[in-house]
Amino acid sequence: MVRLSEEKITRGGISVQTEHIFPVIKKWLYSDKEIFLREIVSNACDAVTKMKRLVGLGKAQSDGDYRIDVKIDPAAKTLTVSDNGIGMSAEEVKKYICQIALSGALEFIEKYEGENSKGDGIIGHFGLGFYSAFMVSERVDVFTKSFDGSKAVDWSCTEGGDYELTDGDRAERGTDVVMHITDDEKEFLNKTRIEGLLKKYCSFMPVEIYLEEVGEEKKDAEDKDGKNQGPKPVNDTSPLWLKNPSECTEEEYKKFYHDVFSDFNDPLFYVHINADFPLNFRGILYFPKLRHEFANMEGEVKLYYTQLFVADNIKEVVPEYLMLLKGVLDCPELPLNVSRSYLQNSGYVAKITSHIVKKVCDKLNALFNNDRKTFEGFWDDVKPFVEYGCMKDRKFFDRTKGLIIYKTTDGEYLTLDEYLDRTKDKTGGKKVYYANDRTRQASYIGLFSQQEIPVVELNAIIDNQFISFLEDENKDVSFVRVDSEVDGVLKGEDNAEKNEKLEALFKKAAGENVEIAFENLKSEKTPAIITFAEQQRRFDDMMKLYSARNGMDMPSSAAEKLVVNLRCPIVSKLSDLAGDEEKSLLADRLAKQIYMLAVIAQRPLGADETKQFISDTLDILEGLG
Ligand code: ADP
Repeated sequence: MVRLSEEKITRGGISVQTEHIFPVIKKWLYSDKEIFLREIVSNACDAVTKMKRLVGLGKAQSDGDYRIDVKIDPAAKTLTVSDNGIGMSAEEVKKYICQIALSGALEFIEKYEGENSKGDGIIGHFGLGFYSAFMVSERVDVFTKSFDGSKAVDWSCTEGGDYELTDGDRAERGTDVVMHITDDEKEFLNKTRIEGLLKKYCSFMPVEIYLEEVGEEKKDAEDKDGKNQGPKPVNDTSPLWLKNPSECTEEEYKKFYHDVFSDFNDPLFYVHINADFPLNFRGILYFPKLRHEFANMEGEVKLYYTQLFVADNIKEVVPEYLMLLKGVLDCPELPLNVSRSYLQNSGYVAKITSHIVKKVCDKLNALFNNDRKTFEGFWDDVKPFVEYGCMKDRKFFDRTKGLIIYKTTDGEYLTLDEYLDRTKDKTGGKKVYYANDRTRQASYIGLFSQQEIPVVELNAIIDNQFISFLEDENKDVSFVRVDSEVDGVLKGEDNAEKNEKLEALFKKAAGENVEIAFENLKSEKTPAIITFAEQQRRFDDMMKLYSARNGMDMPSSAAEKLVVNLRCPIVSKLSDLAGDEEKSLLADRLAKQIYMLAVIAQRPLGADETKQFISDTLDILEGLG
């Protein structure tokens, strides 16, 4: 019996203390226990890769049927990972397991402790290595036989750090790592749990992995015709991202997405990145379909290191405005045990990020130019992210400004240029009319539709900010809400003259604060409309948003203007009544009613207003009889 701590561990020429390593492994990494399986399986995978390399170099021979077996034996309370890789001789076990692996684990723990104390944990926790098996085991046996023909060896080590090295009887080349699971960690003898872990950590490892439970009836996979195909590996050894994009089908991309992200919806679009030197990374990123406006927008980027799963949810590689992306990135250039602060400060990661952004923009442009229908189909879902991206990232704006489209209230999609071009003859091509609530603003929209001027819908919270941003970028273009002014296009030919009697009537109906104006509108049907100056209303909206966020109640400060349409027959009638002393009550009522109808077309009524309006209307109806 030898104590591991008696092994001469040297790093940089200095002997390091190893006594405490076992309690530390057990205690510190408590929450990340499950990673032991990835560490042990990836060692098995490495052993096979090394074997393949030797065979490739002609230095060894093999029948070429490489595999990893994970076997659960509930009765014996063991979990075994076996490979037919390179194997180890007795000398190698001493050197690699008793010294190098131990030293590596120590180094990892020092780093982990250091990073953790800075509140910046290592992501993926890769690097603890072989000794991570002791997080869940009271004893670990290694039965191994090297490819070089040397005698098989058995190594057995307890959680106290005592080990024995004896001759073994493994007949075939390769290694079994037998973990005697402690009673506290029985979950790791549960097949569903282990299968889940293999799926999480080993889904794309390059060697086939088979899972089996001792004593369980074997279930072989069958093909579509019911033919037995033998057991099925739990992993996919050649993941889609390694393929050439030109060889991948739409179906494959969708299936990969469904499988990896357990999302049954199809993604909106994807980008397959195959960046060669100097970036050297590959990956597939999907733009998911959010089920509703308030769905969880957090995406998920999984990081791999040559097919080994390193970490989930690497937010640092995509900019904030693309945070909803879901995908996989395989970056062999990144260190295996990266930390968040490393990712945030790495120049290499910054280059990856800008490459991803470029690829997303290229894809959007390609779809916009070549498949506008599809592009329009998902635009409503993509729009807020593009708008946000434009405001956050100059380069992103430059790359996407040509593809931003606006949905009209008729369901058509137009770019800014297309819109301005369409309205050029009527309005001079400098204004974009928009509505932010097509139901509420329906009568205003109607006025524009009558003149064949499209009205675009801008109803997201971000739109307010975005149109100001666009106006800054396109100095001669302005966005005007349909209720912000009576535009020239709505007016008839003659100039309207001020009518003092009517003005007095409407002042009385609407209140002193409301400005009264007169126009000859093309539409005769509309007696009056209310307008709010665009800039003032925007400021007002902003203040409202701000005060709502801060729990305050802000009264509206934007000045309301009542525009009376002199071409409307009802207004002409009112004008006649206005001179008649005897009919002044009727005139007042009519003016009030006209004003209230204009208010209803603009905003919801308050409680008192509603009561008053209904009672006034009933009075008028009674008078009809
Ligand atoms: P790392 O894999 O990062 O080198 P580990 O602690 O996981 O560190 O393993 C240490 C060494 O032990 C490996 O580098 C390898 O030489 C040897 N080893 C571990 N598992 C196996 C295995 N299944 N087959 C052959 N060698 C192995």
